[in-house]
Amino acid sequence: MNKNLRPAVIAGNWKMNKTPAEATALIEDMKPLVANANCDVVVCVPYVDLQAALDATKGSNIRVGAENVHWAKSGAFTGEISAEMLTSMGVEYVIIGHSERRTYFGETDATVNQRVRAALDAGMTVILCVGEVKEERLSGITDEVVAVQTKLDLAGVTADELKKVIIAYEPVWAIGTGLTATPAQAEETCGVIRKVLAGMYGADVADTVTIQYGGSMNAKNAAELLSQPNVDGGLIGGASLKPADFATIVAAASI
Ligand code: PEP
Repeated sequence: MNKNLRPAVIAGNWKMNKTPAEATALIEDMKPLVANANCDVVVCVPYVDLQAALDATKGSNIRVGAENVHWAKSGAFTGEISAEMLTSMGVEYVIIGHSERRTYFGETDATVNQRVRAALDAGMTVILCVGEVKEERLSGITDEVVAVQTKLDLAGVTADELKKVIIAYEPVWAIGTGLTATPAQAEETCGVIRKVLAGMYGADVADTVTIQYGGSMNAKNAAELLSQPNVDGGLIGGASLKPADFATIVAAASI
């Protein structure tokens, strides 16, 4: 296992937080703290904050992402945003399949797959979220759950397209709860996902895919989680809104 085969990526998921003015202020605070990062740094922000984030990050090492994208190029989809709308602004990354979208907004593996396909067709880098709910972990079916999600969500994605896919393993029971997977649990399930990718694309390709852990990663637990062989980065919710904490996580991934 060679972590050098894939970039470490720390991405913030701001969820439904911050006005454009607040986004600018947060990024201005964050910029000097992550300027020396030796990993990729991304902030995924609400649609209305994208322009402010793009302006504030210009010339810095911070990239900007959206938190979702629709699968159609255009049309009668009130309230939705297309991949072309995002790329036309200069937005490079997008989170797809976050558990909050699956739980509260009825997203299925079929719609997640359509969104993945549309984002890749537009040349975006996808952060694809998969993960089990608490009952699934307690019943011992975590491996099957993440395997099925990974296969369905990536249906039709070629090995070449996979170069623009980051997988975020996010146990749903750990998101926003303060409960974190142990480093051993994170490592085990990220390893399962890599094995599933190896089955789909071959081990050489699977070894180049960045797999993040997400779920209450914070300034205190990041170093140990990120030191696991199959944990190549983090998708960070709450702690990404605190510049010093986010910078500590970025530093932990930069070693
Ligand atoms: C997330 O929103 O993807 C997330 C991991 O949130 P938190 O870090 O707050 O658990």
